[in-house]
Amino acid sequence: MATTHKTRMLIIGSGPAGLTAAIYGARAGLEPIVVQGLQPGGQLTITTDVENYPGFRDVIQGPWLMQEMQAQAEHVGTRMLWDTIVDVDLSGKVFRATGDSGDVYEGDTLVVATGAQAKWLGVPGEQEFSGKGVSACATCDGFFYRGKKVVVIGGGNTAVEEALYLTNHSQDVTLIHRRDSLRSERILQDRLMAHPNITVAWNKAVERFVGDASSGLTGVEVVDTVTGEKSIISADGAFVAIGHAPATELFKGKLPMDASGYLLVEPGTPRTAVPGVFACGDVSDHTYRQAVTAAGTGCMAALDAERYVAERDFARTKAAETA
Ligand code: NDP
Repeated sequence: MATTHKTRMLIIGSGPAGLTAAIYGARAGLEPIVVQGLQPGGQLTITTDVENYPGFRDVIQGPWLMQEMQAQAEHVGTRMLWDTIVDVDLSGKVFRATGDSGDVYEGDTLVVATGAQAKWLGVPGEQEFSGKGVSACATCDGFFYRGKKVVVIGGGNTAVEEALYLTNHSQDVTLIHRRDSLRSERILQDRLMAHPNITVAWNKAVERFVGDASSGLTGVEVVDTVTGEKSIISADGAFVAIGHAPATELFKGKLPMDASGYLLVEPGTPRTAVPGVFACGDVSDHTYRQAVTAAGTGCMAALDAERYVAERDFARTKAAETA
């Protein structure tokens, strides 16, 4: 039978943003519920080595970090529930979310931490070499390609920034783009074109990732979109940077979002246009997208949620006193 779960702080999403919000919310006595979603733990659960999350001298594993965050959230009083939210109603005083299971979740406040997913090319070899040469995050994995040959696929700001970032580790970076002009900002393009260690392979669409079980990725097969000619660009690492898709389908028409679907928040805060609804982590951040920045905004969401509840409770007490 369907159950209704009530809380003062309902959190949708269980990546670093959602779990940090839960830790702070629980410690503030809001007894949070986290609805975990389709990928409990978020994007870090599909990463391997993590060495840029503060507090750990040695390399740690993404899935382990998320298990620890969840254990910490539960330890301070968070309820973790397995469900996927399929509908939300933000029109009332209490925010309602309906799960795939049929259960209903009611929160005095709602923290949206549904994250984003890197877009993938969907070509042969991409999944096979994922984590063995193919990555969607240069900041996370670039370090592992010190002194090696890498390629970046894409022509937007992310691709250009990743190519520039990778020159910190590699002297041989190729940007592969399917057209003959970039979409990224002019200033980034100028820096890219001026960099001695970056080559641009124009008009090249990736057909497949090439490699073998023992060496991992060895190259990328591309087709020239003008001549149709095929060739292989050798590479030890390939970074797919063709954009991210925020998980905001649920909130269309209910919360303002930008043209790419990222939730809009009041600058410098996690506050959405609906009082009591907060957005944190990658769902509202297309620029930084790091576990530590997601955790930071998760903390901000919980602090603001706590303040929202306190102000509402205070107003109710005052109204009762004067009634
Ligand atoms: P964009 O959507 O801007 O760019 C995606 C790029 O990938 C495009 O060049 C596109 O090619 C290419 N692409 C898409 N699909 C494929 C495919 N199937 N095969 C090959 N190439 C493909 O995404 P970004 O992640 O770069 O940026 C997203 C948003 O975030 C933008 O608004 C950007 O400005 C912003 N951003 C801002 C930053 C900053 O301010 N520092 C940093 C990073 C991002 P084509 O051009 O042919 O369509």
